[in-house]
Amino acid sequence: MTTVKHSVHVVPWLRRLGRVLLPNWLAITIGRHIFAWRALEPAELRHELQHVRQWGQYGAGFPLRYMSASVKSLLSGGGWYQGNRFEVEARREEADS
Ligand SMILES: [Zn+2]
Repeated sequence: MTTVKHSVHVVPWLRRLGRVLLPNWLAITIGRHIFAWRALEPAELRHELQHVRQWGQYGAGFPLRYMSASVKSLLSGGGWYQGNRFEVEARREEADS
């Protein structure tokens, strides 16, 4: 895994807010910034770092690409989150140490 410049912000009150979208959410990455409601385990951090890379690759166009990947996954029965190709990619990173 290559390292990537990032910062992690732990903001406990975000937990309630994020539940509106995803009941078991833990963190969201916006650009190089990872917002989480608690400290991340190493595997969880690897997951979010992959999102930092995805932001780096697509820049401001990433949210749109992410949403379109969600729609594509939803239509093919993969669910908007689980089957989203960016999440699949990020989950692969969790396993690598
Ligand atoms: Zn993710």
